[in-house]
Amino acid sequence: MNVPALRAAQCVVSEGDCLSRHTTFQLGGPCRVLITCSTPAQLAAAVNELQRAGEEFILIGGGSNLLVSDEGVPQVVIRYFSAQPQIQRADTVVEVSGSTLLDDLAAFTVAQGLAGLVYASGIPGTVGGALAGNAGAFGRQIGDVVENVTVMNHAGQTHTATPAELQFAYRRSVLQHNDEMVVVARLRLVTAEQGGLAQQRAECLQLRRQKHPDWRVLPTAGSFFKNIEPTSAAGRRQATGWFLEQAGALRMRVRGARPFEKHANIIVRDGDCTAQDVLELSRQMAAAVEQKFHLQLEREVRLRGRFR
Ligand SMILES: Cc1cc2nc3c(=O)[nH]c(=O)nc-3n(C[C@H](O)[C@H](O)[C@H](O)COP(=O)(O)OP(=O)(O)OC[C@H]3O[C@@H](n4cnc5c(N)ncnc54)[C@H](O)[C@@H]3O)c2cc1C
Repeated sequence: MNVPALRAAQCVVSEGDCLSRHTTFQLGGPCRVLITCSTPAQLAAAVNELQRAGEEFILIGGGSNLLVSDEGVPQVVIRYFSAQPQIQRADTVVEVSGSTLLDDLAAFTVAQGLAGLVYASGIPGTVGGALAGNAGAFGRQIGDVVENVTVMNHAGQTHTATPAELQFAYRRSVLQHNDEMVVVARLRLVTAEQGGLAQQRAECLQLRRQKHPDWRVLPTAGSFFKNIEPTSAAGRRQATGWFLEQAGALRMRVRGARPFEKHANIIVRDGDCTAQDVLELSRQMAAAVEQKFHLQLEREVRLRGRFR
């Protein structure tokens, strides 16, 4: 791998970096090389160089939906992440890099008097990560406002994908299964009164402060399991947190890993623990729900690297 060429392209390259520094769980061992790209051009340079060198890689964004193994990962890691928002507006369409933080995008749309993303206020992570997992809150999700997305595969080829091609569903998209990365997304919003949007944003942020842990104080990756899908078209999705509470999950603990007291579906670290401890706790929680309700929980948090 030609590290000087990557640095010349403004990528930030570090060797042996620990992924615990780049995940909101603050867990995860080292990777051989971490390449941080903040712009589409940097991402293209990194992908093309890794393709030329025959190196496999995995992609992360804000690391807010990941549990990375204590051993780390064997591949190179590309981190597509930008602390500086890269957003442009043309009428009611915003064009945003996949590396931009979702909350920065939500704040931008509110300031511009554009409705359709205010509910995303306070969700950690990048726009790319949000599109991959169709992130959402309050019954809405980012896939609802997608006009189209420029995606790039691991060979460096790009194309424009429509929402139908991206197959958005509850906390799902095709991006979780193919090797395509969100380079830039275009989202169609609607105009609205700016003061009302600002009020809604303040309420969303306040609700999050009341109900969710602050991951900087209590490291977490948010909801560990998906909510439970209805068994018929007439049914409604059910909150996994309720089933976990009924199954006694709030009394469980594996070393410093435990469910958050206000929301049993959120696992937090409040002391010394490993990624393996978090996974072990989640297995105990899922087993308790299966035993009591005969329901199989599906993980929302994505595992990277090897676990026992
Ligand atoms: C305190 C807290 C609260 C949360 N609340 C919510 C919530 O209300 N709603 C919700 O939906 N989620 C929530 N989450 C989970 C998380 O914030 C979202 O899933 C977020 O969208 C993940 O984005 P990320 O950039 O951190 O992705 P990462 O965790 O870095 O990666 C997750 C997956 O996305 C893929 N990915 C990342 N970037 C790209 C890209 N550019 N192109 C293609 N794939 C990519 C990765 O390969 C990986 O498979 C919460 C998490 C925390 C810690």
